[in-house]
Amino acid sequence: MGAGQLGRMTALAAARLGYRCHVFSPDPRSPAAQVAEAAVVADYDDEAALARFAEGLDVVTFEFENVPHRSVKLLSDLVPARPRWECLRISQDRLDEKDFVNATGVATAPYRRVDDAVALARAAESLGRPCILKSRRLGYDGKGQVLIEDGADPEACWAKMNADAGIVEAFVPFEREISVIVARAADGRTAAYDPVENCHVDHVLDTTRAPAGIDAALANEALSIAERLVAAMKLVGLLAIEMFVTRDGRLLVNELAPRPHNSGHWTVDACATSQFEQLVRAVCDLPLGSTERNFDAVMHNLLGSAVDDWHAILAEPGARLHLYGKDEARPGRKMGHVTRLYRKGSFGAAAGPVGANTQT
Ligand code: AMP
Repeated sequence: MGAGQLGRMTALAAARLGYRCHVFSPDPRSPAAQVAEAAVVADYDDEAALARFAEGLDVVTFEFENVPHRSVKLLSDLVPARPRWECLRISQDRLDEKDFVNATGVATAPYRRVDDAVALARAAESLGRPCILKSRRLGYDGKGQVLIEDGADPEACWAKMNADAGIVEAFVPFEREISVIVARAADGRTAAYDPVENCHVDHVLDTTRAPAGIDAALANEALSIAERLVAAMKLVGLLAIEMFVTRDGRLLVNELAPRPHNSGHWTVDACATSQFEQLVRAVCDLPLGSTERNFDAVMHNLLGSAVDDWHAILAEPGARLHLYGKDEARPGRKMGHVTRLYRKGSFGAAAGPVGANTQT
């Protein structure tokens, strides 16, 4: 379900293992449909199309956060759905998600539920300014978010969010942002990738650096948070956990994604098993693969017209270019990414990327 670049890279990984993928999305020219055996083009809540889609499947998974969880629930009556639709439901609602994380004993930034401008004013008062108003549903990449600063008008901020339900979060003056991707198999075994460090520009991921520049104790804590959350969700598949590292060295969970994640693209070129192959293994009930990191890596998203550099990137020895087959390079649209590999443990070394000295 869903047929963007995450679906495309999952289908490619599945094909390498001999599987054929069918994809479902409203987009007739989607990145995943280009590399899939079959594509159903319909709205996500088209029940007849969902039933037709299920006929061809042995197992269903999703790659897009905003596939209605009711559609995955409907499919799960017809064919095994992994992760369970309930995992999608939790991650689709920022309030449910934060409640779930805290109930598991893992910390988030302080937050309040707000259903109108009056509640917003009260929440901003108790959390302090600046704070951030976020829509509860259909939010990703900073969409539906409003920074509430001193003197901000609650009515105007509420209108700007453009949604009927929200949460307000304390602003975290973080030292850095990290994420962990963990896979969980049907038998409960898990395998996590090294924590990585993410740099966002305008709320959208710009760069991922693997591994994160944090000490071993903090990395272990991030991994144990990931293990705890994926077990509590009883999730079969992949869970990506975005976290803030505070200036006093604490970890606060920001967001969960029960699917492959942009901050895991580096695993395609740098790890024994990519996140996409790992998802296929988990949902098809195969043994999980090794998450060992063979290289240090920096992944850079190519947004909008940045993709026009593709020729120069290909001329760069050692750069791994991935393009998603999208027709139009609209500003901010994820068109592709490039991963540069470094000898493991050599981050920042003067030697430069692996492969950079192989051409004369
Ligand atoms: P989100 O859509 O919640 O992942 O937010 C997108 C980005 O906005 C995050 O990766 C952070 O860079 C920033 N952000 C979100 N929530 C907060 C917060 N409570 N404090 C500081 N920055 C935040």
